[in-house]
Amino acid sequence: MKILVTGGCGYIGSHTCVELLESGYEVVIVDNLSNSKEDVIDKIKTITGKKVKLYKEDVCNYTAMDKIFEKEKVDAVIHFAGYKAVGESVSKPLMYYRNNLDSTLTLLEVMTKHNCKKIAFSSSATVYGKPKKLPILEDFPLSTTNPYGPTKLMIEMILKDLYTSDNEWSIAILRYFNPIGAHKSGLLGEDPNGIPNNLMPYIVKVANKELKELSIFGNDYNTKDGTGVRDYIHVVDLAKGHIKAIEKVMKDKGVDTYNLGTGKGYSVLEIVNTFQKVNNVKVPYKIVDRRPGDIDACYASTKKAKELLNWKAELEIDEMCKDSYNFVKKNK
Ligand code: NAD
Ligand code: UDP
Repeated sequence: MKILVTGGCGYIGSHTCVELLESGYEVVIVDNLSNSKEDVIDKIKTITGKKVKLYKEDVCNYTAMDKIFEKEKVDAVIHFAGYKAVGESVSKPLMYYRNNLDSTLTLLEVMTKHNCKKIAFSSSATVYGKPKKLPILEDFPLSTTNPYGPTKLMIEMILKDLYTSDNEWSIAILRYFNPIGAHKSGLLGEDPNGIPNNLMPYIVKVANKELKELSIFGNDYNTKDGTGVRDYIHVVDLAKGHIKAIEKVMKDKGVDTYNLGTGKGYSVLEIVNTFQKVNNVKVPYKIVDRRPGDIDACYASTKKAKELLNWKAELEIDEMCKDSYNFVKKNK
C-alpha cells in the first residue's frame, strides 16, 4: 500500500512517515522544504531502516503533482503541507490563504483525475474558537480568531462538499490539539526558525539557555492555577493516530471529523514544573499580560477517535517533556 505524504519532512509529517514505514506502508513525500530540511529523509531511514522517496515540489504545482500521481500509483494521501504560524498568518494573510487553500485544491483536483479518493487531512483544534464547554466534542460550533483558522475551516468545508458531490471519497478530517515531544532517537523533532511562538519550543530554548526566560501569558484565567490550560499530545501518539485514520479511509467511504488529543488539560505552570522536574533543569519565568486571542482552557473529548478509529494517546506529559528536551540537546 502506497501513501503519499504532503509536508512529510515537517514536524508531524516526519513522525508519521516513521510510523507508516514501521507499519509496512510504502511512503512517498512531496515537500517544498519551505519549513523543513532535506536531511529528515536520512533520519527517517536511520530510524526505520527503510527508504522513503522525496519529491521536492510545491503541492500548488498542478503539473508536478500530476506527474507524481501518474508515476507513483498512490493508494491514499495524508495532507500535512501548509503554513501553520498563527502570528505570521495575521501579518501575511494572503500568503496563508494562497498556500493552504491552493495546495489543497490542487491536490484534490489531481487526486480526482487519478481516481485516488482517500485522504486524511491535518486540521486543528483552532477551529473550535472559544469553546463554551469542555471537553470539546467534534460537533461543537466552529469559529476562528486569526487567518490561519479559516484556512483550516474552509478546507474542512471543501472536503465535505467534495464528498457530497462524489460519495466515492473517503475523508478523515483530523483536528489536532497541541502536539509536543519528539522521536525517542532525538533525530526528529520540532525546530522552529527564530523565536518560537508556542509554549514547548520556547521552554526548551530557555532550558538550553538560548533564551533568558519564559513569559507566561497571564495568571488570571479561569483555570486551576490561573494559567492557560491545553491538551498537549505527544507527536508520536499523534502520528499513530494517522495510521488509524488511513486504515479507516482504506476501509470505509464517507467524510468524518476526529479530535486527536489526550483529553487531559495541563496548565502552563504544570508544564513548566513537570519540564523542570523530569529534565532536572531550570526554566526561569515571569508572568506577563495575557496574549490577545488566547482562551482559558481547551481539551478534547477523545471518545469518537477511540470508538471509530480505535485510537487513543498513550504517552504521558513526563514523556512529552523529556523527549522535547532530548531532541534539542541532541541537536544543539
Ligand atoms: P511543519 O511546518 O513542520 O510541516 C509542514 C510541512 O509542509 C513543511 O515541511 C513544509 O516545508 C511543507 N510545505 C508547506 N507548504 C508546502 C507546499 N505548498 N508544498 C509542499 N510542501 C509544503 O508543520 P507541522 O507542525 O508538521 O504541521 C503539519 C500540519 O498540521 C499543518 O497543516 C498544520 O497546519 C497542522 N497542524 C499543526 C499543529 C501544530 O501545533 N504543529 C496543530 C494543528 C494542526
Ligand atoms: N504560552 C505562554 N508563553 C509562551 C507561549 C505560550 O504562556 O511563550 C501559553 C499560552 O498562553 C497558552 C499555552 O501556553 O495558554 C499554549 O500556547 P501555544 O501557543 O503553545 O498553543 P495554543 O495557544 O495555540 O493552543
